[in-house]
Amino acid sequence: EAFGAEVGAEMGTEMGAEIGEAFGAAFGRAPDGVWHAPGRVNLIGEHTDYNDGLVLPFALSRGVTVAAARRDDGVIDVRSRQAPTAVTAPVDGPPVVSEGWPADRAWAAYPVGVARVLREHGTGGASLLIDSDLPQGAGLSSSAALECATALALCDLHGVEIDRPALARLAQRAENEQAGIPCGLMDQSASLLCTAGHALMLDCRSGLSSQVPFDPAAAGLTLLVVDTRASHALGGGEYGRRRAECEEAASLLGVDALRDVKDLAAALGSLKDPVLRRRVQHVVTENHRVEATVGLLRAGALPEFGAMLNASHLSLRDQFEVSWPEADATVDAALRAGARGGRMIGGGFGGSVIVLAPAARAERVGEAVTAAYEKRGWTPPRFLEAVPSDGARRLG
Ligand code: ADP
Ligand code: MG
Repeated sequence: EAFGAEVGAEMGTEMGAEIGEAFGAAFGRAPDGVWHAPGRVNLIGEHTDYNDGLVLPFALSRGVTVAAARRDDGVIDVRSRQAPTAVTAPVDGPPVVSEGWPADRAWAAYPVGVARVLREHGTGGASLLIDSDLPQGAGLSSSAALECATALALCDLHGVEIDRPALARLAQRAENEQAGIPCGLMDQSASLLCTAGHALMLDCRSGLSSQVPFDPAAAGLTLLVVDTRASHALGGGEYGRRRAECEEAASLLGVDALRDVKDLAAALGSLKDPVLRRRVQHVVTENHRVEATVGLLRAGALPEFGAMLNASHLSLRDQFEVSWPEADATVDAALRAGARGGRMIGGGFGGSVIVLAPAARAERVGEAVTAAYEKRGWTPPRFLEAVPSDGARRLG
């Protein structure tokens, strides 16, 4: 399952054809079409989204595939090959989160939620079969992939045209209001707007985005995602605390969001609390690192951006204080083995690390990381090679 067992494992998706047959077995008819939406990795720009700042995600070749057929009875019937329970629900209904669904139906809050939000824009019912090659809850955004694949399918089936930036907002609304998860706009934007060979610079305040060339393989590099196998459950309260600290700092500094801090030295000088000073330092410098990374990528100086990853990791470790032992050991071992850079990704306290390595050294880097875990008696890490891929699309 989940991550490829070996460094550089192939990540292609071949679900398109097979899922049509599975749909027939489940619903007794052929689907009207098959749609795919990818997961994502955020290259740089961590804990900047809720500070109205900048992020730089790219789409993976892995994601969620959905085979679907239109229904005109106002019902959504949704099944997943990764979930035990089929769920049938009216498209016309209150926010799913208010209905108190039992745990085994909870997964369907995402697709049913999308159907309920999009209903206001003219879509209707459907039968859906979902399949995925994206690990769930690993920080690669399977939830947004599920929402975006469903959203595209419903729009196409019901002949509704919504531009992609707007569709991303609607999918985000489904996750916020229907599934009850207070996520930002990055994941849905990445899944819908990314293009192969590019990362997407997204301004989380304006919602505006632009394509930035990013093709590690063409530069002789490999971007590895290392699943540290440490669960981020412990970090739950810490994430909320960081958000609150950022809000408090912004209000003490008299700005709407930390995005608006223009003079870092002056801001640090005016804050008395050393904890708030560290948080501000991270957010402000991280936004600059996103801009610097975009500049390097646009200039074709791809290997140089490894330094930005390292700086981001140190800032997340020492200023924002959200790293965890496995992440620090991964970055350390990877750099010693010749990687150009690496950083923790996601909210912190568990999850994955990305490592930028010369392609010829990627295997050695992976071995060094594995050895570092072995030495400490940790569960072995898992690796996948991340290839910047196209966003959501119809497959057939
Ligand atoms: P992430 O988005 O980082 O993978 P989340 O916790 O946001 O983690 O979303 C994971 C949830 O999304 C799962 O617990 C499940 O409810 C839902 N989900 C994702 N992929 C699938 C799938 N293939 N089938 C059913 N539910 C899925
Ligand atoms: Mg998610």
